[in-house]
Formats: sequence, C-alpha cells, structure tokens
Amino acid sequence: MEAETVKANLEKFCVFCGNKPEGKNKEHILPKWLLRMTGDEKRQIKLFLNKKTVRHEEQSAQSFVFPACEACNSEFSHLEGRASDVIRRLLSENPVKEADLNDLLDWMDKIRVGVWLADIVRNRDFNVVSRNFHIKTRVGQKDRCLFVFKLKEEYEGLNIIGSSTLMFHGWPSAFGLGINQYMFVNVSSDFLFMHRLGFPIWKNREFTEDGRIKGDMETGTERVRLPIVSFSFNIEHRSLFQPCFPTIEPDQGERMGDYLKSEYITGNLLTGNKGRLFDDRGQKMFSEASDSIQIDLSNLTAYSIEFLPTYIGLKILEIQLRLFDQFPDYSKMDIESRRFWRKYYGMAKRMNQELIKAAREELKPFNADGIRKLPKLPWKV
Ligand SMILES: [Zn+2]
Repeated sequence: MEAETVKANLEKFCVFCGNKPEGKNKEHILPKWLLRMTGDEKRQIKLFLNKKTVRHEEQSAQSFVFPACEACNSEFSHLEGRASDVIRRLLSENPVKEADLNDLLDWMDKIRVGVWLADIVRNRDFNVVSRNFHIKTRVGQKDRCLFVFKLKEEYEGLNIIGSSTLMFHGWPSAFGLGINQYMFVNVSSDFLFMHRLGFPIWKNREFTEDGRIKGDMETGTERVRLPIVSFSFNIEHRSLFQPCFPTIEPDQGERMGDYLKSEYITGNLLTGNKGRLFDDRGQKMFSEASDSIQIDLSNLTAYSIEFLPTYIGLKILEIQLRLFDQFPDYSKMDIESRRFWRKYYGMAKRMNQELIKAAREELKPFNADGIRKLPKLPWKV
C-alpha cells in the first residue's frame, strides 16, 4: 500500500465526519450501554484480527474509542439513546414503531462503519484501502436489511461476525452482531434491492477513470418482485428491508432528485431519502408510519450455539462474495488501479472461499434444520 494512504489513515480524524476533530471528545465504537447489556463492561474481548499475525487481539472492551468532534458526537448520542431503547424493546418482545426500526437500521450502519474504521486503525501496516468515508456519510445512504436469529441457550455476550475478512476491509457491507441470545445480520449496499420493490434501478455501474461510480438510472417497475434479495438463509428468522437513496455523494445525489418526486416513490417514503419498512414478501410492515407492531421474537425457532454462530458466519461470507460480484465494472480505471483491484479482490475472494470451506466442514454434523444428525450405529447385528 502507498505510504500516503497509511499516513492519511493514521492522522487523527473524527469518526463521524472524517475531519480533524473540533473540541475534544471520544466516541466508543462499541457503546457502553451495549457492553453493559452483554456482560461486564470492563471485560477483555477479542474483536480485531491482527492481519499480520492472523490472530485476534484481546483488549479491554471499553478501549475501542475514537476521537470525535463535540458537535458530531452529540448529534449521534441521540441516535445511540434511541437505538438502545429499541433493542431493549425488541428483545423484551414489546411493540415498536416504524421510526424505531429506522433508528435501529441507522445504528447498525453506525456500528458497521465504526467497526470498519477501527479495523483500519488497528491494522496500521495492513491498510490496502483508504478510509474514504465515515459514519456520517454512510448512515442511511444505501439500501439496507436486517435479519434476526435466535439462540436456544441462555447466553450473555457481544459478538461481531464477518468483520475480519479482506472483503469487509475493502467493502464493509455485510456483518453480524450477536447481542446475548439474538444474532443480527446487517447487509447494506448501493441499490441492493430497491428495484425489487419497484423503485428505480441503477444499471451499468462502472468506475470512471478518477474512481467515481457512474451508471444509468431508470424508473422502476412500481411493483414488487420476489425474492427481494438474491441470498437466503434457509433457517427461521425475522427480516426487514428499507430502500434508501444516496443523498450525500454529490453526483449520485443530484440524479436522485427527479426519481424522489414520482408518486410511487413518495407513497413509499418514510423520510426524505429513506423508504418505508418492508417485510420479506415485499409488504409494508406498518400500514401507517405512526402504527406500532410487535415483531414477535418469542415464537422464533431457536438454534443451538454449536450451530447458529458458524452457520451465520458462513452466510455472511457467502453474502460478502455475492456482493462482490455486483461490484461496479472497473475496466475503465487506469491500469494501476485495475491491477490493484484484481489482485486485492482475488486475495479477498480466496480468503472467503477458504473460510466457507472450513465452516461447511464444521457444519457437517448438522442437518438442514440445524439439528445434530444422529450418529450411525457403530455395530452390526
Ligand atoms: Zn466531526
């Protein structure tokens, strides 16, 4: 990697806006309320893979802090408060409103990008990508979905899944978050599924010579086509989908304007650039945005701790690979960039493929329902 990228990555920056922090503030990548909810907040946890030694490094859970501007920090602390409330309500099986789930998805974006930035800073000598975006420019800017799974065993702990891969390092679009007995998978990417919900489609995406992404926007079909996403989990879970238009990246934002005015889109928007919440059948989850519903997690089929984390890990690895196949065409970039991407993604792809193989091996003793197969009788009569 180029010396300049290393230097840029290591200079002090605000985790929210990416600029030199104004006013002294610290932001916990893993919020304190979440650490307290999942165990002793002073505990040691293994979160980051040291990409040189290929070992997970253990450190105090509270020590994942980043500099942040005072203003940015207080802006996001409101979201933190609302998200903690929503998670508590969901997990205690209380009703939630559509705006609550919108907050939850914003928060998932925040954690996902925060973990990614922390990984970049942790692996000082192994930064092949430059940190070209921060929390503020990624929250609520891309289609996003969330899948919820349940563990059979009573379990207390916080787990982050899928964030150590080179795929995630290059493109932090899919990860898993285990909060006690529940495991969440969060996937977010540009125009991932909005066209399946009848929203516009962004075709022929490619990198321009200067590294921006361009493509052709087309009006959507205004009807739902199933399945909403091309990956599936095949075990029981709850899911939610929210289409989001990018508004911050200027050349994309400009093009969105006209599409946001169509009657179909305005009828399916929750706020400025964010769509309503949809279920996996493409139905709106709430008839009115002000309604509240109960996402019933109590009757969700639960899976054993021997099976579920590995299975979810496998699925995240597969999703990361799949998203890579939708990567914009980079054949128009300069030769050096093309070589770089080919080499980097070749490496990243192999890593995921190897890990997928290992996970499949580990899952061999389980049947399609995640239940341990009965052993064959070792004797004959
Ligand atoms: Zn800032």
